[in-house]
Amino acid sequence: MAAYDFNAPRLFVSVPLQKNARIALDRGQANYLLNVLRLRDGESVLIFNGQDGEWRAEVSVEGRKSADLVCAEQTRAQTTRPDLIYAFAPLKHARLDYMVQKAVEMGAGILQPVITRRTQSTRVNLERMRSNAVEAVEQCGILTIPEVREEENLKRFLNALEKDRVLVFCDENAPVSNPVEALAKLGNNPAGLAVIVGPEGGFTDQERALVAAHERCVCVSLGPRILRADTAAVAALAIVQSVLGDWH
Ligand code: SAH
Repeated sequence: MAAYDFNAPRLFVSVPLQKNARIALDRGQANYLLNVLRLRDGESVLIFNGQDGEWRAEVSVEGRKSADLVCAEQTRAQTTRPDLIYAFAPLKHARLDYMVQKAVEMGAGILQPVITRRTQSTRVNLERMRSNAVEAVEQCGILTIPEVREEENLKRFLNALEKDRVLVFCDENAPVSNPVEALAKLGNNPAGLAVIVGPEGGFTDQERALVAAHERCVCVSLGPRILRADTAAVAALAIVQSVLGDWH
């Protein structure tokens, strides 16, 4: 990976970025830079908006509680959002926060909550998911903002899935077999990827049949032990990214 300054603080801003653009920070952002990071006038941060790449910006202190940022130079060009859908049965609060952050760190470009029969929480706080996604993006040097979609029931999610998109189905009932081999058979797949992980209670047999009916469904086992859903998220995405995704 290019030599990247992981120490520089990164901030998501939702305004256009270009040389010499001056960005007024809201109180929260100003407090974070001035009082938490204790940055001084003229020091730099990295900022990005998901459209214009990443920029080094200099702090222009306006007072004890307010500051602007001035775009100095572009540090990285904008990249396209990964065409990787992470579909999951929403978990409760802290574990959902964790799962969202890990899925984004692992390169998911679209987060799709899917309501299944045994899903614990059917009301999903999309704003909370979006802020968790942005936090992961800021911390992990990611340049694109994942799309957080409205929750869908399983049938509607599957019906809306492109027929040629590979759907990696993490099935806790699958006989133990090598998931890397199962995925390697697919070769490079230009039509995009999706991964689905079920709820703590697992999939019902009817749901299993529905998922398996997707034209390009690849059912994978994640080993001989039952993983918790948030663990399964990281394990599944690690395998998918290393065999089919952007880890090679
Ligand atoms: N019914 C079990 C399994 C649920 S685990 C239970 O309640 O303990 C939650 C989800 O993680 C599963 O639906 C599946 O998508 C994934 N998962 C967990 N362990 C797995 C494994 N060994 N192989 C494939 N997927 C797994």
